Amino acid sequence: MTHAQSQQLFEKAQIHIPGGVNSPVRAFRGVGGSPVFFERGEGAHLWDVDGNRYIDYVASWGPMINGHNPPEVVRAVQEQAARGLGFGAPTAIEVEMADTLCRLVPSMDKVRMVSSGTEATMSAIRLARGFTGRDKIIKFEGCYHGHADSLLVKAGSGMLTLGVPTSPGVPADFARHTLNLPYNDISAVRAAFAEFGAEIAGIIVEPIAGNMNCVPPEPGFLEGLRELCDTHEAVLIFDEVMTGFRVAPGGAQALYGITPDLTTLGKVVGGGLPVGAFGGKAVIMDQIAPLGPVYQAGTLSGNPVAMAAGLANLRLLEAPRVYSDLADKTRHLSEGMQERANRAGIPFRSNVVPGMFGWFFTEVPSVRSYADVMRSDVNRFQKFFHGMLEQGVYLAPSAFEAGFVSTRHGSDDIEQTLKAAETVFAKL
Ligand code: PMP
Repeated sequence: MTHAQSQQLFEKAQIHIPGGVNSPVRAFRGVGGSPVFFERGEGAHLWDVDGNRYIDYVASWGPMINGHNPPEVVRAVQEQAARGLGFGAPTAIEVEMADTLCRLVPSMDKVRMVSSGTEATMSAIRLARGFTGRDKIIKFEGCYHGHADSLLVKAGSGMLTLGVPTSPGVPADFARHTLNLPYNDISAVRAAFAEFGAEIAGIIVEPIAGNMNCVPPEPGFLEGLRELCDTHEAVLIFDEVMTGFRVAPGGAQALYGITPDLTTLGKVVGGGLPVGAFGGKAVIMDQIAPLGPVYQAGTLSGNPVAMAAGLANLRLLEAPRVYSDLADKTRHLSEGMQERANRAGIPFRSNVVPGMFGWFFTEVPSVRSYADVMRSDVNRFQKFFHGMLEQGVYLAPSAFEAGFVSTRHGSDDIEQTLKAAETVFAKL
């Protein structure tokens, strides 16, 4: 497999783009080497600029749950584009999007569209603060909620990959309002409320952590957060930018049966175009301008082309058995990986939820926390990543990112992936 064209493009990219990329993890800093430049996607597959084909488990970091370029989504985008790219004024399609989201996610009475997950979480935090009149926010170590100042404290995803969990440029005065606690440790949350209860505006949590690889919630963790927020009149925010419409039609809150006050969405809801959303209880959402005093706005918010893509993506997910098939496929893939790793004598653990997986090179019996994740063998992951790439399997270029399966991955793709892993494990 040659990557000559990708390498040449990367050289060129670095002249005018910092690090040659528009988002840091893409630069392959987490795995070494030079990033692959892609040209085309179709179903479960991607083709790079050198003509190599890959089975893709990145899915544009989540949105492509229906595979790349589903004809229904492409058609919806083309039809809307022909009518107008954007008006910055109300459209019927935004109303349809809001109705659809509130139907699929019953904890949301009202929802506001934005253009990224970062905007969604940043706005939800501001709203929680405005609604409660309090400043402190609880977040969890290794969770990533986009790059707003208050949330870039001990964050996951690219922050972990690059080893800079708290960014320079975030004023210490902001960071001191963010309480950073261990994921899956309800006693730590209880202690924080005991000390700062009256100052805590809310908790923001990934109900399944997907930015320190994949760490599902322990039984009782999300329930405990709900209870503490109720007791202390704090706002519980589920950041479902990654898990929304991925693990279940109603997201992780439906999977685990916990009702947050606010929910943030992104990725799948835009079908691959730049879309985010935040929504929740009417009493809280009504605090946003123009109804209330909490300011939030966006030139491109609710953009009709983006809404068309998102709605078409969501419609495809309403077909019967989508989520059970996705769950079966993801489990089959991860079980197959475990079996092959065992046979090769490689310490390996996997965490699986529907449509999402985490693979760890570790002896830790079960990976439940940030501390467990940090004990996995990153060097071995790097070798594994490059081995799989050479075998035509594209995984996230970091040991700290979750993997995604789409409805378009066929059993042949899964078998081919397992065969590739067998070859790579033999050389690790
Ligand atoms: N929240 C979560 C849980 C995410 O996974 C991400 C992005 N991976 C974000 C927020 C930020 O979204 P965006 O990159 O669209 O700003």
